[in-house]
Amino acid sequence: MHILEERQRQVHRKGSEPFDLDCNKQSAAGSVSQRACVFCGSRVVLYPIADALHLVHGPIGCASYTWDIRGALSSGPQLHRNSFCTDLKELDVIQGGEKKLHKALTQLIVEHQPKAAFVYSTCIVGVIGDDVEAVCRQISAEQGIPVLPVHSEGFKGTKRDGYRAACEALLKLVGTGDPSGVSKASINILGDFNLAGEVWMIRKYYERMGLEVTATITGDGRVDDIRRAHGAALNLVQCSGSMMHLAKVMKDRYGIPFRKVSYFGIEDMSQALYDTAAHFAGVVPGIQERTVELVRGELQYILPEIAEYRKRLAGKKAAIYVGGAFKAFSLVRALRHLGMDTVMVGSQTGLKEDYEELRELCDEGAIIVDDSNPLELSSFLSERQVDLFIGGVKERPIAYKLGIGFCDHNHERKLALAGFEGMLNFAREVYGTVASPVWRLTPRGSAREAAPCR
Ligand code: SF4
Repeated sequence: MHILEERQRQVHRKGSEPFDLDCNKQSAAGSVSQRACVFCGSRVVLYPIADALHLVHGPIGCASYTWDIRGALSSGPQLHRNSFCTDLKELDVIQGGEKKLHKALTQLIVEHQPKAAFVYSTCIVGVIGDDVEAVCRQISAEQGIPVLPVHSEGFKGTKRDGYRAACEALLKLVGTGDPSGVSKASINILGDFNLAGEVWMIRKYYERMGLEVTATITGDGRVDDIRRAHGAALNLVQCSGSMMHLAKVMKDRYGIPFRKVSYFGIEDMSQALYDTAAHFAGVVPGIQERTVELVRGELQYILPEIAEYRKRLAGKKAAIYVGGAFKAFSLVRALRHLGMDTVMVGSQTGLKEDYEELRELCDEGAIIVDDSNPLELSSFLSERQVDLFIGGVKERPIAYKLGIGFCDHNHERKLALAGFEGMLNFAREVYGTVASPVWRLTPRGSAREAAPCR
């Protein structure tokens, strides 16, 4: 296949060459990257805060990623589901958008009474040089709520820079609330966005273990919880690509330790609970015994059905292309649990150490790719005769055009795939798509038929 000269070092085939993958850099011009922009990185991290106002300062097109496309569930307020935008036009570009921003913020805060407001800078705002900080400061003084600029101009880096901008905005909130009353046995859940109710499932596990959850950042998030998050005893960080900066600064500033966890797949989910129980062993009596019981009970419920899917999926081949590399680790393990081989894995924002770990995890011959594009992905899928592609909204059409089963593991999904119950959902979904009779009708179909559905 043809890989652009500038991208040759961003593709690695395990076993064929020394590992020296290039990553964490601007996308190559002309490669039609699958990667989202800086603003999008900030938006996916902050939007789940349900009682905050989220205002996109820019042209209306930047606001097109609405809640309906990239949703996050809330158990209470639904303000985050609105897409507010200053809708900058040609005249605003000439005259500046600060007045428009001031007017929009004032109107929206008066009408919706949010607990805080986030203002996202887009490309054009960076170009015309609006002083978003100053407008936010002024509105905050006038309206008496935190109004937080998010420096997420789309052109100024990669999606990863958007994560960092989101963390910087969150750090202006953390520490502004009263932490008295927060238990010594308390945690913050960082890096789950409650796309399909995952935070509720994970939260229940921790509560059954005897822990208190101070803040969920940001899935089903609340401004007041985040303001007192510095009172918690431990930060549990999933999606470390997006939330590690927040965790590190909270450690430096407030002395809160953090642990990286993943809630996808049986091994990683269990490990997250065991590690957390070990951390609180001297604080919460009986926590480790309760955790063992919890895991045992959950596994008894899900394993028999998963074993059935494993029989039917054994030997099938999978490819993964996701936003953050950390999720890919868990997916490789979860697929292995279903008897499947991961023959291609990549991410939009992985770091060198992430890819090294992926290389360790994968079998010989696996393709590891950073910041890929549709042409490359299509040819990898065809070359490796993949049965299942796991990705997000931009990867779905690639799979379907090639007649390959697809599992959405990104912000667009509506089915919880985290936790023990989520692993069962994942197995059902993988089996459902890989074994679907619809693939018999595609050009590549008959050769790759799976065992018939029950
Ligand atoms: S790249 Fe710039 S113009 Fe495009 S969506 Fe992102 S912020 Fe908006």
